[in-house]
Amino acid sequence: MVTQAGPTEQAIWEVLRTINDPELPIAITDLGLIREVEVEGARVRVTMVPTFSACPAIGVIRQDIRAQVLTLPGVEEVEVELSFAEPWTMKRMTERGREQLRQHGLSVPPRLGGGEVTCPFCGSTNTTLENPFGTTLCRAIYYCRDCKNPIERFRSPSD
Ligand SMILES: [Zn+2]
Repeated sequence: MVTQAGPTEQAIWEVLRTINDPELPIAITDLGLIREVEVEGARVRVTMVPTFSACPAIGVIRQDIRAQVLTLPGVEEVEVELSFAEPWTMKRMTERGREQLRQHGLSVPPRLGGGEVTCPFCGSTNTTLENPFGTTLCRAIYYCRDCKNPIERFRSPSD
């Protein structure tokens, strides 16, 4: 009897690294959304740290994870759990993720709880809040008084 080898944790992580956040131009792993991957035979459990409880993207991400991980050979069941034990903070985001957000003109707060908003186009901090709701629940729109560009800022839960 041949026992089919289950997937490795590493293979799961590799798949997760290819899944982008539906609202941000970076991978969910760079966003720091994944806390843990557990493999038990053909069963995979992925534990996610939700960024914003109100963010509708969470449901989409869960579906993406399930669908993508299920394509791996040897995977029969995928559970995606949300962990609220330790809240997501900007610290969970990788340097690569921050850099990618900056390249897309999204201002990233230096740490949880804000600080001033730096214009990603000219570096000015002479910015003003234009629309706290932005294009999605995850973003707020600021306006740069120096270069006159609108700035989308990635919201942290305490903003
Ligand atoms: Zn500017």
